[in-house]
Amino acid sequence: MSDSVKEIKTKINIADFIRSYVTLAGAGKHFKGLCPFHAEKTPSFIVSPERQSWHCFGCDIGGDVFSFLMKYENIEFYEALKILAERAGIELRHTNPENYRQFGVLYDIIRDAVIYYKSELERNTSAINYLHSRGLKDETIEGFDLGVSGSGYDNLLRHLVALRYDINDAVRAGLIYRNERGLFQDRFRNRLMFSICNGFGKPVAFTARILPAFDNGEVGKYINSPETPLFIKSKFFYGLNKSKKIIRDAGKMFIVEGPMDMIMSWQDGVRNVVATMGTALTSDHMKIIERHADTCIMSFDNDPAGSAAGEKALDLAAAHDINAEVCTIRDYKDPADLVANKPGALHEFVAHTKPAIEFYFEKYLGKGHEKKNIRSVLAKIALMKSPLDRSRAMKELSRLTNIEEQVLIEEMGMLNIETSEQKPMEQKPHEHSPLTRKDSIAERIISLAYARRDPVVCEDIKSFLSSSSQELINIVFSGLMGDSPPPSPSSLEFHGILVKNEAVMDRIAHRAGLEASRESEEIDEEIQELKKQLRGEYYKEKRAALTEAIRSAEKRGDETALEEALRELIKIPLDTPRT
Ligand SMILES: [Zn+2]
Repeated sequence: MSDSVKEIKTKINIADFIRSYVTLAGAGKHFKGLCPFHAEKTPSFIVSPERQSWHCFGCDIGGDVFSFLMKYENIEFYEALKILAERAGIELRHTNPENYRQFGVLYDIIRDAVIYYKSELERNTSAINYLHSRGLKDETIEGFDLGVSGSGYDNLLRHLVALRYDINDAVRAGLIYRNERGLFQDRFRNRLMFSICNGFGKPVAFTARILPAFDNGEVGKYINSPETPLFIKSKFFYGLNKSKKIIRDAGKMFIVEGPMDMIMSWQDGVRNVVATMGTALTSDHMKIIERHADTCIMSFDNDPAGSAAGEKALDLAAAHDINAEVCTIRDYKDPADLVANKPGALHEFVAHTKPAIEFYFEKYLGKGHEKKNIRSVLAKIALMKSPLDRSRAMKELSRLTNIEEQVLIEEMGMLNIETSEQKPMEQKPHEHSPLTRKDSIAERIISLAYARRDPVVCEDIKSFLSSSSQELINIVFSGLMGDSPPPSPSSLEFHGILVKNEAVMDRIAHRAGLEASRESEEIDEEIQELKKQLRGEYYKEKRAALTEAIRSAEKRGDETALEEALRELIKIPLDTPRT
């Protein structure tokens, strides 16, 4: 443990720190609260100031103030170190300046890009007129640091170079990319620039809307920054840094579809609001919701596409045991449109929401009580994770249709539905399906091995990995060994490697780039630790699968299968974790 880590731990009281995220009760030796990492109604999350540690008995995870922050904010160790050092009032520069430069420079670049795009907006009358025409007030434009990117291919690039940034760092920050002809170019052009901030209010990425004059229907209306070491899209809501406290107090999170809706809702005084960024909600989003509120209110755009996307979100929330309510903006396209035309009216809409199940009753039973309509409702009820919610919904359905509950239950049993226990309904954005813990450990090892230019490191972990992760190792190392410049996404492109999963490759290259300046002994140490964890995860998964196999073999009375599973179970080393 480095000196600064030790120093931070002595200076920060872990209970005080965690209390800014989780409500803790109790006094003296231990504090208790609801675990922010899983949904629960009775507290199993314990904080011990004496040992400077936390532990959840529900998820069986725990650690120190660093691991808490990393997990809660989805950030990496160095980012956590920076934040905690700041909080503890410790100067980090003298410990390992190179590390912090590698990471900190990305924040600096994004911050300077925000300033640059803002100054561009001040000079761009037509963009300002457009924002005014959409109903935005000047104080809103200023308060959200809105900006605009110009027409040139390299305006920002030249600005950043003039500020003495390295182009490769600008690429790592996701603002510059190398085009097909191998030239560096601005990623965002002719767009309104909305900066996306992390939980600490620091801008880490952009979501950008095409200016109406340049909207020829061929370019995406909104585009986002690519994934970078600072930004993983599926883990961010736009505006959450501003609204999170208000959401916690309200207990409700109003989720709208784009940054414009978020900003306009905020301007109109409905401030417990966040926006998704052009993607379907993911399980990661659900975890963020769980940490901030009991209930989410989904705003449904007034068109079929909006309604379909909204329904998927409701189903995902049901599968995660989050109360979901529907807010339909009647007569207007979306919340932004409503606020622009009828300032002050959004409050009413958000105050009169409908629980998801009521929305479905009206939607399907409103058409009549035919079998197919009732089945549609049953399919929605089956998705609910909470047996209590399911039971209540069944009672209500029985009352509405005059059909006995038992009959409805039998009918539900006939439907071929993937219930929430089997598999939460989820629209996975294919570019980054959520990683399992094993995958993410493997990815980390691969990044470190790549930073060390040492594929051998990965040899002894291959047996623990899925074939796709094994393949990833081969792709990462084939042809890339021996090139001297620091790895970057553009160098991967340059080598013409066929990349199946570009997002993963980007991430690995980015991370490796960040590690390049670390002491090799330090990296080796981390690799050894990660290998231990990976082995643990592997056997944990295996043990769970075998336990399941044994259970089902017993049920079927299949002696052979039972014996075989037991034999395999005995082979699992005893020093591996059980849960
Ligand atoms: Zn937990």
